[in-house]
Amino acid sequence: MTTNPLVKTLDFQLDIQSGNEGLLYDATLEARSVYNETIRLAKEGVNWNAIPDRVADDANLVKNTTQRVVAKALGAMENHYEYDDFGQPSHTKDGTYPLRANYEEGYNLSLTDDGDVAFRISAKPYNHLKGVLEGSEAHLDILQTALESDEWKIGTAETLFHNENAELHVNVTNTEQTVRDKQDSRTVVGVDVNEDNVALTALSEGGVEDTLVIDFPEIKFERHRYFTMRKRVQNAGKDSIHNTLEGREERFVCDRLHKVSRHIVGWSQRFEKPCIVFEDLKEMRDSIDYGTRMNRRLHHLPFRALQYYTSYKASFRGIPTAWINPEYTSQRCPMCGHTERANRNKKRFKCRDCGHQDHSDRGASVNIAVKGVKKLDWNVPALNSLPVVRKVRRQASGAVDAPTVTHPTVRGYQADGRVGVSD
Ligand SMILES: [Zn+2]
Repeated sequence: MTTNPLVKTLDFQLDIQSGNEGLLYDATLEARSVYNETIRLAKEGVNWNAIPDRVADDANLVKNTTQRVVAKALGAMENHYEYDDFGQPSHTKDGTYPLRANYEEGYNLSLTDDGDVAFRISAKPYNHLKGVLEGSEAHLDILQTALESDEWKIGTAETLFHNENAELHVNVTNTEQTVRDKQDSRTVVGVDVNEDNVALTALSEGGVEDTLVIDFPEIKFERHRYFTMRKRVQNAGKDSIHNTLEGREERFVCDRLHKVSRHIVGWSQRFEKPCIVFEDLKEMRDSIDYGTRMNRRLHHLPFRALQYYTSYKASFRGIPTAWINPEYTSQRCPMCGHTERANRNKKRFKCRDCGHQDHSDRGASVNIAVKGVKKLDWNVPALNSLPVVRKVRRQASGAVDAPTVTHPTVRGYQADGRVGVSD
């Protein structure tokens, strides 16, 4: 069985306190020209061993950064040859390119007395930027641990501009844990995250094994309640109370999301060699308008946090995660494949073609699992019937209510008493 090191990429915003952001921007443009020049020389047939030195002579970057950017460009060429992709990597694109650097060479991190993580990035030779990292609790947590513990190794990082904000993406590797290779999985668990629930479907080569909807209405409720309270004190000009409330809300939501993610991982472990599959919502914000459902999902619940906690906890149990393109997952009929926006009406799904009826989030999780199966290059099993949707509700205390069956599916499946399973 193949296993992989447990690697995480942690994303942060830079709160720059000394040094010049413009300089950093120039350096990312310089990195682009290093990338382009490397690709150009490789296309010209220059010996790859000779390229790093030739490019480094002209680059106004820290040496280690130039080397890492050259290596990434050659990696792109290598991939192109290996997989026989259509079209070579471009050497004429403009705009910024991430500054790559090895830890303690092109960049450095340290814990401050306040418990923040301070950074130092070499943008250009003899020119540094300093400040502290800002980001989600989850990412900061791991980085703080990594800085203090031998169990984690801090690796390369990329400094880049995302929506005009300077960010640092740091790779960390856990030296004691490994994760099973995705290809060795036997079950795919599709996870559909929504504002007040998460829908799960386990799919194997034999078909849908089981399905579960975890409701967490109190997260939505509490977020709205805190939002109203914060507005009120804000209008009264009480900033400190506002901040306290914000901190409390964050801790509440964080705590609940941890519990839900633990539930997801626990459920997934009941199946043979699971691989957990999520929608990749990262790229979407920048690209196409995916309609109101998607926008609402992006702006409401801290989705990424739930996905992140789940994948984090899963990897500690050796369970791999995969990411799929979210397009049409909520509109496609899992039974016949017919895709139409009108199939879905809030939580109800009714296929305009074959008449299949379902809980719409469960349907989406089936579609996510199907995409995951395709991604792993298995054959997608024919879906003739889907199990009854079981629902559990997470209470504020963290306890789980007994499952209830809500939406029986129309085609052929009989409820067979499997509903009372505890989670
Ligand atoms: Zn259909």
